[in-house]
Amino acid sequence: MKRFSVLSMDGIGVALRSVISRVKDATAKRPSELPKTVPRLVAVSKLKPLECIVEAYQHGQRHFGENYVQELVEKSNDQKVQELPDIRWHFIGHLQSNKCNNLVGVPNLFMVETVDSTKLASALSSSWGKQNKQDPLNIMVQVNTSEEDSKHGCSSDHCVELVQHVINHCPHLKFSGLMTIGEMDYDWSQGGNPDFICLVQCRKDVCEILGLSEEDVELSMGMSSDFDKAILMGSTNVRVGSTIFGARQPKQPSSANAAGGILHQSPRETVLSGGTSQPKTSQGTNPAPGAEQDTFPPESFNVH
Ligand SMILES: *Cc1c(COP(=O)(O)O)cnc(C)c1O
Repeated sequence: MKRFSVLSMDGIGVALRSVISRVKDATAKRPSELPKTVPRLVAVSKLKPLECIVEAYQHGQRHFGENYVQELVEKSNDQKVQELPDIRWHFIGHLQSNKCNNLVGVPNLFMVETVDSTKLASALSSSWGKQNKQDPLNIMVQVNTSEEDSKHGCSSDHCVELVQHVINHCPHLKFSGLMTIGEMDYDWSQGGNPDFICLVQCRKDVCEILGLSEEDVELSMGMSSDFDKAILMGSTNVRVGSTIFGARQPKQPSSANAAGGILHQSPRETVLSGGTSQPKTSQGTNPAPGAEQDTFPPESFNVH
């Protein structure tokens, strides 16, 4: 098992450095008309234990993304995380209006990337207002660019309206940009991903109609499988999970205390659950057949 102890020591740091260098490479290869600003990397830590977050933080990572309100509340309030003063949380999951009051209490909440209706925007603004913070809360409008029923997000046709609502009627929110998840498993031999093309077009429309400057409107697009390509198309914020932290277990509704159950696994148990090892835990950490298997360790990773 020696090779796994090597993984446990360096896995996240090595993977993180590899992702950062790919982010920089892709930025340098952008067409000349696009800005050369290096996008923000959000390390998506959903369903991963705190130790992984602490380890990534120690390697210099500051922005982290979470999908579930309860899990984020628990993680962000944990003593271990309280000791990471510059951590910046992004909420990137589906948000229900009745959860806004819980979410806004998260210490160091930096951005909510998934505002997809006027009702949610208003609820979030009013929740944030009650916190009496000096600055408004950064938000992005999520666009369902692939128009899949299974995906959340406003339709691209309603995007301008929703942004306008945020700007005119949500005094405690700061409109920061547009976000999409897009179709998984897009076949890139078919050309530029239509989801990313669509989001770029949405930004054009928003800026033209509402008189904003494109530099002031971010694009959150790109995940483990496609962040390099998203950057080439102008992404300013990429959300990368499994390439940094290893494959995730599917979320199990049966373990209602999902966050509690994963909060204190060691990084090793989790990083190694990517497929090849059999960690000895009672948490059911072995991947189910057909569980998502992302590339980990990354190609550049050297197992000694
Ligand atoms: C899980 C998730 C990610 C990260 O996915 P990976 O494929 O693990 O990089 C990014 N964005 C959203 C909205 C997610 O839910």
